[in-house]
Amino acid sequence: MNQSIVNQQSIKQFNTNKILKLLTSTEMISRAQLAKETGLNKATVSKITDELLNENLIVDLGYGMSSGGRKPKLLKFNPDAKYIAGIKIGGSDIYFTVMNLMLEDVFTQRIEIDNNDTVIIAELLKESFDRAIGTLNIDIKDIIEVAVAVPATVDIKGMIIHAPNIGWKNIDLSEEFKDVFKGIPIKTFNEANAGALGALHHVESPEHTNLVYVSAGIGIGTGIIISGNLYRGKMGLAGEFGHNVIVENGRQCHCGRKGCWETYASEQAFYDSLERKGLKMEKGIDNVLKELENNNPVALEAMKELSSHMNTGLENVARAMSPDYIIIGNKMRHFKGYLDIDDEIQGSKVLFVDKESHTTIEGMGFVIARKYLYRDRYDINI
Ligand SMILES: [Zn+2]
Repeated sequence: MNQSIVNQQSIKQFNTNKILKLLTSTEMISRAQLAKETGLNKATVSKITDELLNENLIVDLGYGMSSGGRKPKLLKFNPDAKYIAGIKIGGSDIYFTVMNLMLEDVFTQRIEIDNNDTVIIAELLKESFDRAIGTLNIDIKDIIEVAVAVPATVDIKGMIIHAPNIGWKNIDLSEEFKDVFKGIPIKTFNEANAGALGALHHVESPEHTNLVYVSAGIGIGTGIIISGNLYRGKMGLAGEFGHNVIVENGRQCHCGRKGCWETYASEQAFYDSLERKGLKMEKGIDNVLKELENNNPVALEAMKELSSHMNTGLENVARAMSPDYIIIGNKMRHFKGYLDIDDEIQGSKVLFVDKESHTTIEGMGFVIARKYLYRDRYDINI
């Protein structure tokens, strides 16, 4: 393409982005106000807003109040112009969500699973998807992408290399779920990377933020953000703090090493610990919380040990990365009250997320919505 056409296109995108950023951060705004706040001339603002109206990304609310003179016509961003389907697959459940361009959930469902066969999961997803489409009464073509988060190593192309806690190896979900989502593009994310991007969405100035998201569930995965960008490493597999050895010659990990952090501080590690201590109980967060609330001494002892191991791993993260934030998400967030973790470790602020699926699904939505709206730098295959 001719260089001057490329430049014209990038200037136009830059101007469109300025306008979209204002529209998405205000309730409603007039063209005159858009011109004033962006510094663009009125003709450019009119041309761009006409295009956005055509794309249904904004709606014309008609005439607003006037402070004297001609009444201004007000414009409003339309978050329901497009949707994103976000799916989080865990060891025992699946969250299926449809969100709009402002990442508001318009449909959400939790599905319990006891079988990780992709054919069975595809059937369950089809049920949820069909129900969502019917309930919301939306057109399939208005769903721009299906994003799937899996606790797995995922390569640059979106191929699952290994999901040890789900039992998947070398799986391409965009092929496995192709028929379910009727041609909508499917993108697979490493669950902790998606969580890290979701956490980034909540900090004040994301572009200047370094953070590590610790997804502590059935295993431990970590997602690393450096200066607002996801750090994936050479092969796309960076952030495996869960397999840092914290106990030499310790417990056998499925990765082949012994003494990995996740064999001491994950949800599974907790169940294993209870079993070693002779306490038999049904798995599940609610059951664990019940035992802890009833002051079961075995459960409390196991949690105390887990807390100590959690701290060792978090300190390793803090010392290695020195991020602004270390954010703990996934199942382990439920035990916040029982984990003795400082608010700050080696100068890094430690926070817990407050909604289990939220950060992960939101992180995928954040990337996809931004890419759709701004064609911006988050255009990466995560
Ligand atoms: Zn390991």
